[in-house]
Amino acid sequence: MHIPQFSPWIGDEEYQAIASCFKHNWITEGPESKKFEKKLLHLIGTRFGVFAPNGTLALYLGLRALGIGPRDEVLVPDFTFIGSATAVEMTGAKPIFVEVNRRNFQIDCSNAKRLLTRNTKAIMPVHIYGTIADMDQVHAFAKTHSLHVIEDAAQAIGVHRNGVHAGAFGDIGTFSFFADKTLTTGEGGFVVTNNETFYDRLLYLRNQGRRERGSFIHPEIGYNFRITDIQSAVGIIQIQKLNEVKKRKKHIADRYRELLAAIPYITFFEPDKEAEWIPFRAGILCDHAHELMRFLKKRNVEPRTFFYPLHRQPCFAYLNQNNDALFPNTIFGYEHGVCLPTFPTLTDKQVMYVCHVIKQFYSHENYGKQ
Ligand SMILES: *Cc1c(COP(=O)(O)O)cnc(C)c1O
Repeated sequence: MHIPQFSPWIGDEEYQAIASCFKHNWITEGPESKKFEKKLLHLIGTRFGVFAPNGTLALYLGLRALGIGPRDEVLVPDFTFIGSATAVEMTGAKPIFVEVNRRNFQIDCSNAKRLLTRNTKAIMPVHIYGTIADMDQVHAFAKTHSLHVIEDAAQAIGVHRNGVHAGAFGDIGTFSFFADKTLTTGEGGFVVTNNETFYDRLLYLRNQGRRERGSFIHPEIGYNFRITDIQSAVGIIQIQKLNEVKKRKKHIADRYRELLAAIPYITFFEPDKEAEWIPFRAGILCDHAHELMRFLKKRNVEPRTFFYPLHRQPCFAYLNQNNDALFPNTIFGYEHGVCLPTFPTLTDKQVMYVCHVIKQFYSHENYGKQ
């Protein structure tokens, strides 16, 4: 029995939806994408949205629509997927890393004031592991210092905080539909906003600098950020499954908690009370995390580490922000975090097996000898 970290939940329904695109003979962005867009806006609750080829380019598009470019600086949490920061780099701006809290590894602005310069233009909360950052704190900070807010909600589709959907708090919010995200189209991204001016810029930027396809007059510089109706057809089915995914992933997270509760070396990723949680990852924090992961792998379970702190990334050495003293929490997360397998088709039996292996690791005979 091999238990992967993740396995997408796609099947006959998605297959049929793709087949219907072939029957209609429309495969690029078209009528299915319009339908998918409407359903996404209904779910997220913003006025406007545009697609992008993936979550990284959705962020890039969003940043460009906010006017971010060379010489600007954008505050990005030190604990996130590399794409949050490389999207900033793509615009020519500089990512500035911000420490996160230790409960749930969301951005913490309480020490961020010292990072501000004349060039700081925006802050990018990233809603890590399927819950939502403290947006009251982020908004207060952004307002005081006149910063745009762009939310990386790649891991938080379907998640609310105080009744507001992830991505709908800020000036702009972005999503990813990569294969391991809560809702997938294989690859794909979405940018949302309530602001008509930003929406207009998004439309020009993603459509070769014009409003409508079919004209060869281009008032502005823009690019091609289209997706395909094949992806959208899959996405429409995936939205229908979202509640089931939510239920199943919550159940799995609860089971892990119950079955591992007695192990004193383990604590759990803890979302804020105000925020919902669709456990995008089943994160635990534990002693000897990296040894535990080797132990799991040898027994056919595929764990994943938490994110490697961005300030330590070799590719960001040029930014001169590699100062461990400023980021004890992201370092703690990397050293002690383990993502256990979680995906909708993971069975209770498999969850029990994973927990059995973890208990074995911490049992007296084996603990510390791996
Ligand atoms: C997945 C992800 C991205 C990038 O999305 P892609 O579709 O893979 O480009 C960005 N930020 C976060 C937090 C992600 O999880």
